[in-house]
Amino acid sequence: AKAQGRNTWHWFEGVATSTSNEYVALRRELMEAIEHEQFVLYYQPIVAADSGIMRGMEALVRWQHPERGFVSPGEFIPLAEQTGQIVAIGQWVLHQACSDLANWNAKMNRRLPVSVNISPFQFRRYGFLEELRKTLDETGLDPELLELEVTENVLMSGVGQGIDTLQKIRQMGIKVSIDDFGTGYSSLRYLRQLPINKVKLDKSFVMDITENTANAAIVQGVITMAHHLGLVVVGEGVETTEQAADLKQRNCDLLQGFLFSRPVPFDQLTATAEAAQSI
Ligand code: C2E
Ligand code: CA
Ligand code: CA
Ligand code: CA
Repeated sequence: AKAQGRNTWHWFEGVATSTSNEYVALRRELMEAIEHEQFVLYYQPIVAADSGIMRGMEALVRWQHPERGFVSPGEFIPLAEQTGQIVAIGQWVLHQACSDLANWNAKMNRRLPVSVNISPFQFRRYGFLEELRKTLDETGLDPELLELEVTENVLMSGVGQGIDTLQKIRQMGIKVSIDDFGTGYSSLRYLRQLPINKVKLDKSFVMDITENTANAAIVQGVITMAHHLGLVVVGEGVETTEQAADLKQRNCDLLQGFLFSRPVPFDQLTATAEAAQSI
C-alpha cells in the first residue's frame, strides 16, 4: 500500500525485495523524474564550532514528485542505487551543486566550499573521475571548493581500488570527507591509510552526547585521533545548544544541524548565510 500525498515516508518500504509491478512502476517514475528534472537541491550550512560562522554547506537532493509531493532522499536514493539510476541522479546533483556554488560565490564574493554526497555505485563506476573533471571544467568551480562525502563502507570493499580512486580525486585538488563516521565497519586505525580531509561524526553519536557517557567517550576519541591525523571533524545533526557546547568543548571543528539551519533551497541561501554570520 502506497502512502498518499505528502505522507510518502514508507513509500519504498519492501521494494528492495520485490520484483513486483510496484518496483517496475517506481523505476519508471524515477526515470521520468530524471528526464523531467523533478529534482531540486537544498543546502544546509556547516558552521565553525567556535564562532558559528558559516564555513560551507552540504547539498541535499529532494524529489518533487508531481503527485506525491516531496520525497526524501532516504526513500529514493537506496532504490536508485539498486537500479543504477543513481548514476544519472548523481551526475545531475554534482553538476547542479558545482554550478550553484560557482555562481553564488561569484555573486557574493565568497569562497565557500560545497559538499556533495557520492553514493558507492557512483564512486566505483568507471568514468567517475572523468565526470568530476568535466563538471569542474563546465561549471568553473575551483576544485578546492568541492568536497565529496563518501561513507566508510565505500572504501572497505575493495580497499585498494577505493584508495586509488581517492588519491586521484585528491590529486585533482578535490577534498574528501568520510560521512556517517562511526556507523560503518572501519576502525580508527584504518583512517590513517586514507587520503581524506574530514570526518563527519554521525548524528547518532551527537544525538545523546550529553547523556550517554560511552558515546561521549567515542566522540572524544574520534576527535583526538582525527586531529592527530590532521583531519577536520564535523559534528552532524546538532539540534541543541547543549550538543553544540559539548562538541565545541571537545574541540570539534565544524557543526551542522537544525540548531543552525535546516537545509534550504538555493534561493534562500543568501539570507541563511547572512543569518549564520550573526549567530
Ligand atoms: P546524510 O548525508 O547523512 O545527510 C544528513 C541528513 O541529516 C540530511 O537528511 C539532513 O537533512 C539531516 N539533518 C541535518 N541536520 C539535522 C539535525 O539537526 N537533526 C536531524 N535529525 N537530521 C538532520 P536528508 O536530506 O533527508 O538526506 C538523507 C540522506 O540521503 C543523506 O544523509 C544522504 O545519505 C542521502 N542523500 C541526500 N542527498 C544526496 C545526494 O545528492 N546524493 C546521494 N548519493 N545521497 C544523498
Ligand atoms: Ca552527507
Ligand atoms: Ca551524514
Ligand atoms: Ca547518511
